[in-house]
Amino acid sequence: MKTAELRSKFLQFFASKGHQVVPSSSLVPSQDDKTLLFTNAGMNQFKDVFLGFDKRPYSRATTAQKCVRAGGKHNDLENVGYTARHHTFFEMLGNFSFGDYFKRDALCFAWEFLTSKDWLNLPPEKLLATVYAEDDEAYDIWLNEIGLPPEKIIRIGDNKGARYASDNFWQMGDTGPCGPCSEIFYDHGEHIWGGPPGSAEEDGDRFIEIWNCVFMQYNRDENGQMNPLPKPSVDTGMGLERISAVLQQVHSNYEIDLFVHLLHAVARVVGISYSQEVPSLKVIADHIRSCAFLIADGVLPSNEGRGYVLRRIIRRAVRHGYKLGCKQAFFHLLVADLVQEMGAAYPELVEKQTQISDVLKQEESRFAQTLETGMALLENALQDGVQTLDGEVIFKLYDTYGFPYDLTADIARERNISLDEAGFERAMAAQRARARAAQNFKANTQLAYEGTDTEFTGYQQCQNESRILALYKDG
Ligand code: ATP
Ligand code: MG
Ligand code: MG
Ligand code: MG
Repeated sequence: MKTAELRSKFLQFFASKGHQVVPSSSLVPSQDDKTLLFTNAGMNQFKDVFLGFDKRPYSRATTAQKCVRAGGKHNDLENVGYTARHHTFFEMLGNFSFGDYFKRDALCFAWEFLTSKDWLNLPPEKLLATVYAEDDEAYDIWLNEIGLPPEKIIRIGDNKGARYASDNFWQMGDTGPCGPCSEIFYDHGEHIWGGPPGSAEEDGDRFIEIWNCVFMQYNRDENGQMNPLPKPSVDTGMGLERISAVLQQVHSNYEIDLFVHLLHAVARVVGISYSQEVPSLKVIADHIRSCAFLIADGVLPSNEGRGYVLRRIIRRAVRHGYKLGCKQAFFHLLVADLVQEMGAAYPELVEKQTQISDVLKQEESRFAQTLETGMALLENALQDGVQTLDGEVIFKLYDTYGFPYDLTADIARERNISLDEAGFERAMAAQRARARAAQNFKANTQLAYEGTDTEFTGYQQCQNESRILALYKDG
């Protein structure tokens, strides 16, 4: 089954169960929501409905939602190219109940869609479920109503801090709607390394999480207090690319129809042959989706906030092209291939095609001017025997050559070299102090220089990079 067909099937199934089909919302969260960097789940557009502040003419909804996880609470940027299942941009299929049905129907609908002959017809023995440690109600539904054998129902607590470890208490961000959840995993088979969720080998890619059913019961406030929601609700999310891999009988998301086409396009524009074994090809195929969709939703590269995240993703993609030997602008050429693949489902891509491609072209040409010299400096600093990259070098790359911290980290990680983060922070602090002194001098002497429109952004940029580092730490 093609990815596009699967998307429609999902919506059709939930429409047949009385759900309103609602279009995806923008990747840029609504004006009033300052708690979110980008839309990271299907439930975001319904946040106020869950909280009881907004009412809709329906109590059941279903969506295929554009999501970006490249910063903030859910950040998968560092996973791309390293796991079979993570993207920065992906589509989340979801069904929602606003005080209508709760645990029983949520789990039974999911099971029916996955296993019924009329729908996906997956073999039940390949599936397993997790429930929140204390959630006996969900456990009983799996055991007694759905008939999953007890060894396939795994209780999991809130596993804070672990990078991949399952966590059966879902939250959108540090505040907002949240609740215990039950997740469905697919076993891709013994030939792939990995253990079931909760086991020591769960970091492996054998058992892949496909669907999360969240029982929305609380609103977490700024003090961390959990207040009950007006009505218990349901929010589910299933990654389209992951379920597509299952149905197409491939293991990695990058092997599904949509990605195979994109990977061929990337190979063509950078001038190498198609392969599933070259991580940089996957990174570029992933990044063209997040960058193009973000620009279509109005984000532009900049030194601040959302625009800076976009700039960082573009620069990472360009660097991966460079690594593959491509020295000229290539990234913008992928827009046409993406439109061909996804334009039917997302008309905004078609409508903004020229703009997306122009923005990317300009951005990659800008970076190309400093990439080569920056890389030469870095290669020099990384010569034999170096185990930690000097903070001053990381700072120089950032300040003079436009290498965001995470881009340098990406390169160092490929070679198992660690980063002197403290040294980088010290160099930034010194730069901030110099910038402040220069600004004071300018104010005191009232020397207004009017000869150029070049804005001084060093100080602001430094602060921004500190925030990004902080995000990485909580991400
Ligand atoms: P994982 O543990 O694999 O990182 P998650 O628990 O962070 O996934 P949820 O927040 O529960 O993911 O999101 C619901 C569903 O969205 C997941 O079950 C998965 O199918 C899909 N999903 C989440 N993150 C990604 C991603 N980065 N790329 C592709 N699909 C994703
Ligand atoms: Mg995750
Ligand atoms: Mg998970
Ligand atoms: Mg999950």
